[in-house]
Amino acid sequence: MALCVLHMGPSLRISLFFFFLCPSPFPAANLRPGAEQRVVFITARVHPGETPSSFVCQGIIDFLVSQHPIAKVLRDHLVFKIAPMLNPDGVYLGNYRCSLMGFDLNRHWANPSPWAHPTLHGVKQLIIQMYNDPKINLEFYIDIHAHSTMMNGFMYGNIFEDEERFQRQAVFPKLLCQNAEDFSYSSTSFNRDAVKAGTGRRFLGGLLNDTSYCYTLEVSFYSYIVGGTTSAVPYTEEACILLQSRVLRLPGRELGIKGGEE
Ligand SMILES: [Zn+2]
Repeated sequence: MALCVLHMGPSLRISLFFFFLCPSPFPAANLRPGAEQRVVFITARVHPGETPSSFVCQGIIDFLVSQHPIAKVLRDHLVFKIAPMLNPDGVYLGNYRCSLMGFDLNRHWANPSPWAHPTLHGVKQLIIQMYNDPKINLEFYIDIHAHSTMMNGFMYGNIFEDEERFQRQAVFPKLLCQNAEDFSYSSTSFNRDAVKAGTGRRFLGGLLNDTSYCYTLEVSFYSYIVGGTTSAVPYTEEACILLQSRVLRLPGRELGIKGGEE
């Protein structure tokens, strides 16, 4: 198993891991004819007021299209589908949480209307289409949000009856916590609250097979506290605008790439 970390700029220190089986370091496994596509699906800005969600998503995109060797390996082995703005009408209008018609789109994943929730309906259709394609394995779904009261970056995940599946799902945020100074596993929570039933990670966690991992990634509007300290480090817009993703660490020596840190 190879493991790498994307680091989202000097201050917006939300990092994402993508860990994947890598039987051969360099062939473009996803691009071989007839090969199974391993897909990471990312959505952002379903809540229009959560601007840090867009900064994080932009950092991911910038890194993935870069010439960094890890970005190349990721592109060779995984397919990234990214919907960077699920609620463009709400963003245009300056809404905080709702769409043009006043809906909180992240409560309508179960039955989105093509008329009332067109962006959500379109993305859901695409995901279901991929789910039904035997040559596509949708391995990760990550929905990026921003949080107005919590500090740090953290995640929401799902609870499953299958304890082994639940523990596997906890690995990703645990790895983030170990490798990203601003990510908090202690703030990460797993739930199946009725009020969250219509969210992306809840709905897709129930739809996709048990080898898929579905999360909400939250980043504080304000700041993060590094473990062992008490001072808050602000997530600044200036740093976000730099939009420079960098690799923080590359424990995956299996990738055969030297100089994992930048
Ligand atoms: Zn949100």
